[in-house]
Amino acid sequence: MRQILVAGNWKLNGSRDSIEQLLSGIVAGAGAAANVQIAVCPPFVYIPQVAERLAGSPVAWGSQDISDQDSGAFTGEVSASMLNDFNCKYAIVGHSERRSLYAEDDAFTARKFAAARKGGLIPILCVGETLEEREQGVTESVVARQLDAVIELEGVAALNDAVIAYEPVWAIGTGKTATPQQAQDVHAFIRGKLAELNVGVADKVQILYGGSVKGANAAELFAMADIDGGLIGGASLDANEFLKICSAGA
Ligand code: PEP
Repeated sequence: MRQILVAGNWKLNGSRDSIEQLLSGIVAGAGAAANVQIAVCPPFVYIPQVAERLAGSPVAWGSQDISDQDSGAFTGEVSASMLNDFNCKYAIVGHSERRSLYAEDDAFTARKFAAARKGGLIPILCVGETLEEREQGVTESVVARQLDAVIELEGVAALNDAVIAYEPVWAIGTGKTATPQQAQDVHAFIRGKLAELNVGVADKVQILYGGSVKGANAAELFAMADIDGGLIGGASLDANEFLKICSAGA
């Protein structure tokens, strides 16, 4: 039985004060969703603050990105071992904003996935199609290609220690949510594709949905057979809204 995971992706938002308030609210209400795994992914610079505040709480934390390198002359990068110093559990890799705004391709994303695993972090691998790709009817082949890059580099068993987030690009930050059935169809495709290679991995891996999830639509999404929680952008910046989403998985 897969547990529901709700992970907040704060993106480029927050300040020391606003994060203190947000975390207080989340910690105060997290107990109401005790059977749900909860995590937040702040900007790198706030990870020490988050780690200190959340230590001993049921809420885990992670990064929004990770370097594919361990150390050395890579200006601006943050490695898995650095994230481990602050007890990060997760690292998001291949978010569509990294792919589209910073030209991170499938192969680079796969190397980041590998670096996260090598460092003992759980990668949250984001996959998903653009609106144009959906309209062209190539959603499945796009998602398959994004997954294959990781499987070719790391092997399918690597997904035993990972999370997949299906995030249709057209639904991210747009207020347009995929219908539960649209999301379920792609989740089932992903699980089916993995099952062809390794049934155990397919059964175990959590596949999150991301794209304008809110308190009002989370329950119907999480009720679908292959949706194991959500990767939450905008709504994760409001403690009450985020907690409503968490409770929807309880
Ligand atoms: C995201 O960025 O991962 C995301 C799902 O954003 P939003 O919830 O704002 O659509």
